[in-house]
Amino acid sequence: MPTLIENAHVITVDADRRELPDTPVLIDGARIVAIGDLPTLPADTVRVDGRGCALTPGLVNTHHHLYQWVTRGLAADHTLFEWLTRLYPIWAGIDESAVRTAALGGLAHLALSGATTTTDHHYVFPADGGDLLGAEIDAAHTVGLRFHPTRGSMDLSEKDGGLPPDSVVQTIDEILTAGAEVVAKWHDPSADSMLRVALAPCSPFSVTTQLLTETATQARELGVRLHTHLAESRDENDYCAEHFGCTPLQYMESVGWVGDDVWFAHGVEFTDDEITRLAATATGVAHCPTSNARLGNGICRTRDLVDAGVPVGLGVDGAASNESCRLLEEAHQAVLMARARGGPTALTTRAALELATIGGARVLGREADTGSVEVGKLADLVLWDLSTVAHSGIDDPVAALVLGAIPPIASSWVNGRQIIANGEILTVDVDLVAADVAREHRRLVAKAG
Ligand code: ZN
Repeated sequence: MPTLIENAHVITVDADRRELPDTPVLIDGARIVAIGDLPTLPADTVRVDGRGCALTPGLVNTHHHLYQWVTRGLAADHTLFEWLTRLYPIWAGIDESAVRTAALGGLAHLALSGATTTTDHHYVFPADGGDLLGAEIDAAHTVGLRFHPTRGSMDLSEKDGGLPPDSVVQTIDEILTAGAEVVAKWHDPSADSMLRVALAPCSPFSVTTQLLTETATQARELGVRLHTHLAESRDENDYCAEHFGCTPLQYMESVGWVGDDVWFAHGVEFTDDEITRLAATATGVAHCPTSNARLGNGICRTRDLVDAGVPVGLGVDGAASNESCRLLEEAHQAVLMARARGGPTALTTRAALELATIGGARVLGREADTGSVEVGKLADLVLWDLSTVAHSGIDDPVAALVLGAIPPIASSWVNGRQIIANGEILTVDVDLVAADVAREHRRLVAKAG
């Protein structure tokens, strides 16, 4: 039956960036079928009162590591490389149970901060871990989010000069075989797809040049996207200078890793020339301001990237470097960080909301399907309650969303299905999940010794 959202302030983020006070939006099936002018409604239409609320596109998260939900709070005061060295032995113990529990917790929490679409970068595959991608896909199906998991990989361990321990890396043949299998089994390229897969070697300092080259070839043969971490820290710059004699982006370009089918997480260290190159090739960037600050890596040049025309979305990054992982908070942080770096006009509140919605959709190749409130688009929508004491009296709903606290979510829909009502997620028992997360955390830490 159709659902009619009435009386809300609709922030469309469409091409004209229309904002429509007190305007009805009609959902039928998986799609938005009317905004403003309504057809004759059937008697069984469900009516949702959006009085005092803002209706936005569902937010799109462009970088995450869900498995880290059960390894939060460790190495709290360390650099990126120290933090990785501390956590790899714990991550080496993950299995299907840990990953499924972590993904249920991480995805439920992400939904409660406004996400309707998320990616995930899973790159730790211990030999006896089981079907880890299958476990998180199962969790995403349960929670009900639109999911773009990436099959990550590492083939450069300590014995070969890389950072990860030997037990969590795989051979190139194992990685390519697994990549082909997950794409064949899970990837759905259709317009209303709830599940698309990408391929994602972990970072320049944990994979070989051959793996990067062969993964790029494989992804293009299979018609899927490519993702990795890049230009995240000065340590990474030093590593690339020492091993390859160039910057991280120059290295990635030399192995075929630029184009509108590629997106990089972080990009803190990109230079002027590199920003021009990213724009010319339509290579995307997942901006993760909280993680960059938590690890002391610096501040991404968001304004310069956006001005140059680079596709930019927001990412919470993994829960081990962002224990909060609330997506709307990343829009808040994006504004604060950009202005701390570039002055009061560096990023507007509306530009930040665009990064969180249509920007992220563009980074994931879904801008025709989601990321704005438009007739014909998928019904991925969030109804934020701005009537409580946290936001009442803020006249500009976008300022309330981006500069204020995270509002309670009155309702949200993914693919036309309601997954949140009155601030509660309908699809999972979060109290049960919380207890499971605590148990899995204790088990993994004990296992690492
Ligand atoms: Zn990451």
